[in-house]
Amino acid sequence: MIGFDETPERLMCSRAGCRERATSRIEWRNPKIHTADRVKVWLACDEHVDFLREFLAARDFPLRVVAADAADETDQAAQTADETERQA
Ligand SMILES: [Zn+2]
Repeated sequence: MIGFDETPERLMCSRAGCRERATSRIEWRNPKIHTADRVKVWLACDEHVDFLREFLAARDFPLRVVAADAADETDQAAQTADETERQA
């Protein structure tokens, strides 16, 4: 049993009811309620990455998918990419 403090919960799929290990991170935001510097992160296993991505894409939320173990610095890259795309 792993202690709660060390449990890598952020590496579990965000899909409701799914407890698979996440392999992808979906970084997204809702432009209506989130400012450009707010990025939400969902985690997805191989099976659900498409489901979650399409769920967000259907709402026209800006998003990007990166590897789950990507460094946190990609957060800033994501924001930059979002802004670039929105203004293009
Ligand atoms: Zn899943």
